[in-house]
Amino acid sequence: APRIVWFRRDLRLSDHPALCAAAAEGPVIPVYVLDDQGPDHHAMGGASRWWLHHSLESLDASLGRHRSKLVLRRGDAATEIAKLAEETGACEVHAIRHYEPWWRRAQGKLSKEVELCLHDGNYLLPPGTVTTGSGDPYKIYTPFAKAARQCLPAREVLEEPSFSNPDSWPNSEKLSDWNLLPTKPDWADGLREAWEVGEKAALDRLEAWADHVKDYEDDRNLPSIDGSSRLSPHLHFGEISPTQVWDRLSRHTGAGADTYRGELLWRDYAQNVICQFPDYPTQSYRDYDNSLWRNPNRGHLIEEDLEAWQKGQTGYPIVDAGMRQLWVTGWMHNRVRMIAASFLVKHLLIDWRHGEQWFWDTLVDADYGNNGVNWQWISGTGVDSNMFSRIMAPLSQSEKFDAAAYIREWVPELADLPNDQIHDPDDRHRPENYPEKLIGHKEARERALAAYREMKSGG
Ligand code: FAD
Repeated sequence: APRIVWFRRDLRLSDHPALCAAAAEGPVIPVYVLDDQGPDHHAMGGASRWWLHHSLESLDASLGRHRSKLVLRRGDAATEIAKLAEETGACEVHAIRHYEPWWRRAQGKLSKEVELCLHDGNYLLPPGTVTTGSGDPYKIYTPFAKAARQCLPAREVLEEPSFSNPDSWPNSEKLSDWNLLPTKPDWADGLREAWEVGEKAALDRLEAWADHVKDYEDDRNLPSIDGSSRLSPHLHFGEISPTQVWDRLSRHTGAGADTYRGELLWRDYAQNVICQFPDYPTQSYRDYDNSLWRNPNRGHLIEEDLEAWQKGQTGYPIVDAGMRQLWVTGWMHNRVRMIAASFLVKHLLIDWRHGEQWFWDTLVDADYGNNGVNWQWISGTGVDSNMFSRIMAPLSQSEKFDAAAYIREWVPELADLPNDQIHDPDDRHRPENYPEKLIGHKEARERALAAYREMKSGG
């Protein structure tokens, strides 16, 4: 009897433990189910859908090399997989385990219907397995990462297996009927220009980037250069596994490689957090924060500020450059993500969940764990807290990390300004088509600290 391999955010053939296990046992039916109901308001955003389309296309082409193909279904994932098992007489379903709450629910439901074999494969270590001396999961990144490093690498990279095909193929929906790509308007030009999607592109990118890891320690903070791996959407969609990345970089020693490994562990850490607190991307861990934000229910008008932030029209060049890079390419440099996020929650005093949702819709690497954990970290509302009262100064960050070329690229109306004006143009230099600051830095800082004090005193 055939085995179903249920692909989700693991759209690759190499280092795929579920595929390897199924392939060893019998003919393989690869399937992907588009399920928008399970995730509810975390259904994939526009940029992720664009990526998904191309990634599924690429996976189907790779399966073609094995005379296989990807079967597509739409609906409640557990129901659809169970139906497919019945249609095809499949005796087992193999899948890589995923930890988003909707996937945990689907795994639970499906395991009551079919023989579901779950495999670990999308994280360096299975979330929940690194524990404190008393056996509890870690809440804080630093001790988590220290303990995790002792256990790595946890397994070897697996080669792409060969496998056999079923005698007959079940029906498949057509990818083009899913309308994952934007049409009217087609806003994906910038995405097409910025990215190559799929497993091969991911492996090529890793190869092209690997030697740059020696400079990562410094370069990763400089938005004007290509100083980080840009593997995040590939890792999110599982076109490459973190074990493959870890393995490729294992021959590199030095501070850059070490810091890079620490970043990969942030990704593992975030999964550990959402395993412990499944609604983390929507619920502050600290219950105080609702009174901190400007709130339309209390008569505060936030809409114009929020829109200016989304469109990159805040009057802070580094923030605007980042938000425009995000809109055009579906990705933003990590240092600038921190600056732009901090600006939303502290300078504009807008609830972090508005930012989480905007990123969710616009990032090609939008990730339930990584996005939620980073937003709460920036806001100071999370388990692993950065303090709310530590307020980042966007203008000096921009200078310190030499963002002039980055600003010139993404905010072309400022391109002709000299270096001493580009980070914070004065009224004489600010071009007419570039907005004034929504709020001055000093004023914003005082407003945020006052709101924080008031909240703390229960006012
Ligand atoms: P590199 O610097 O090359 O890092 C390698 C890999 O490590 C990344 O691809 C990523 O998988 C992981 N990583 C790096 N930094 C982090 C981090 N802080 N947290 C978790 N994993 C990390 N990353 C996402 O993948 N998805 C998100 O939705 C996301 N939302 C974010 C929201 C905010 C407000 C902030 C401040 C950061 C967010 N990040 C998110 C983390 C980080 O910005 C990106 O992972 C990184 O910029 C991706 O670029 P890169 O692949 O070149 O990273």
